Amino acid sequence: AGCLYVVATPIGNLDDITARALRVLAEVQLIAAEDTRHSSRLLQHFSISTPLVACHDHNERAQSSSLLQRIEQGANVALISDAGTPLISDPGYHLVAQAHAAGIKVVPVPGVSAAITALSAAGLPCDRFAFEGFLPAKEGARQKYLQRLTQESRTMIFYEAPHRVLGSVRAMAEVFGGERQAVLARELTKTFETIKRASLADLAQWIGADTNQQRGECVLLVKGVDTKAATDEISVDTQSILKLLCNELP
Ligand code: SAM
Repeated sequence: AGCLYVVATPIGNLDDITARALRVLAEVQLIAAEDTRHSSRLLQHFSISTPLVACHDHNERAQSSSLLQRIEQGANVALISDAGTPLISDPGYHLVAQAHAAGIKVVPVPGVSAAITALSAAGLPCDRFAFEGFLPAKEGARQKYLQRLTQESRTMIFYEAPHRVLGSVRAMAEVFGGERQAVLARELTKTFETIKRASLADLAQWIGADTNQQRGECVLLVKGVDTKAATDEISVDTQSILKLLCNELP
């Protein structure tokens, strides 16, 4: 049998493709792509003529079995998405899970992901982080979802659509408090790359005042809750309760 390569592609700057990705994409028998028209432009740019087949959210289950069959018959197949690493807020989960279930070798060909790219330049704690992907689109569901994250101490990474970024930052300021540090990482690796770090309140104001900041692709990062301060607060509370109790002692 052949194997399934999971290949990362650039998120803007085409120079970010790896030498290994180019070699694998040129050598496999078939490339399964989220959007064949989009990916054919990428392949054309690198003069790669491997045949493309569509594998997106709507046909992934059906397509998986035929792709796995091809692999079992000896073909090597590469999975790519429109940008960045497949499966990261992109199709491919079903195909990769099915490949493992069928005993097919899955080979990652690593490269860019917007989440890690943003995190590497955000200047927020990176020792632990939580990738949150896309927030619910509806306001009520978004609010509820954010409320569940108020005690999250890790840096949180969100993907966001440009027309929702202002609403989301305002909602975050409301739920997490306007003082919380955050970063808007927009148009990463592209001409208008912008990495703005500010408190949530200031970030909301800054984005609101400049419609250019509500365009293109963006990642939002929010610092986790300061657990040390929270512990100090508890101990201050505990101390005052203890004081009260002590006063009652004979
Ligand atoms: N698989 C991709 C990855 O590995 O990052 C993510 C795909 S997801 C459908 C698209 C989202 O990723 C965008 O809405 C945006 O939040 C983020 N994104 C992709 N490219 C970006 C870029 N150049 N700058 C900032 N964010 C980007």
